[in-house]
Formats: sequence, C-alpha cells, structure tokens
Amino acid sequence: MKCPFCRHKELKVIDSREAHEVNAIRRRRECLECLRRFTTFETIELTVQVLKRDGRYEDFRQQKLIKGLDAACHHTTISHEQVIALSSQISDELMIRQVHEVSTTELGGIVMERLLAMDPIAYIRFACVYRRFKDIEELVEAIQTIPSKDDAKRKEKVCVK
Ligand SMILES: [Zn+2]
Repeated sequence: MKCPFCRHKELKVIDSREAHEVNAIRRRRECLECLRRFTTFETIELTVQVLKRDGRYEDFRQQKLIKGLDAACHHTTISHEQVIALSSQISDELMIRQVHEVSTTELGGIVMERLLAMDPIAYIRFACVYRRFKDIEELVEAIQTIPSKDDAKRKEKVCVK
C-alpha cells in the first residue's frame, strides 16, 4: 500500500478497530514520509458461490455466463450486446438480493426464464445444455411448455381487463 498523497510506501498503523456497520476493519494510517493520515477498510470481497452438480463450488463468473449465453444465442434474435446486458442484469440481481450461494440448476432457471421471454430458440438451446435432456421426449416436453405467441396475446388481453 502506498500513501495516497505522496505515494510513499512506508506507513504506520496508528489505530485499528472494527467498523461494525460495514463488517470491516477500519485502520487509521500515517505516512512516514509526509505525515499525512488516512483511513483504510479491510472488507470481505463477496463473490457468489456456484454449487455445481458434483457438489463442488466455484466463483460466479460473469464471463462464463456470457460464453454460455453467446453459444445459446448464436444465430437467434439476441445480439452479443444483449447477452452482455442480460449477464450484467443477472449478476446485479444476485448482488442486490445478497445471494451468496446459488446452484447451477437455480442459476440455469433464472437464465432460462429471461431467455424464454426474449427468444424461444435461445431458450431451448440453453435448456439443452443446462437441463441435459436425457432423451428427445424431455426436449419435446420442454418445447411444449413454451407459450405460443397467441397465448401471450390472450394473456395480454386478460391483463388489460
Ligand atoms: Zn505520504
């Protein structure tokens, strides 16, 4: 760590205490060169843990989600820009809801819900990877659960009333 004022490297901690409101350690430091004082916070870096099917955990990586989404959305109406926006939304949502742990299945469910609203083809492609359909019947079943455009229109009409 360097002094924010003069970039000097030798610092002295003059006070250290817990900052309860932010779950952090607050340290008052003094620069040995310019003698100016400043405060640092040591906090927990929160990464969402993804529980994989084999029981192991890995850090949630937005980049990995983008890769999966790009593969599912290739040659659909969903652009790479939309993929990036969608992955940011999902990542933000996990942070806002203060989710610390999410299973692959839950995460896949969140993504599929969004894709279904955007493009059914991308939805099915993504579902193929995430749900690992055992046979063609399972795939057909998933396709049949997609509401048709007429259904959506009917729902809209019901909502208007
Ligand atoms: Zn300094």
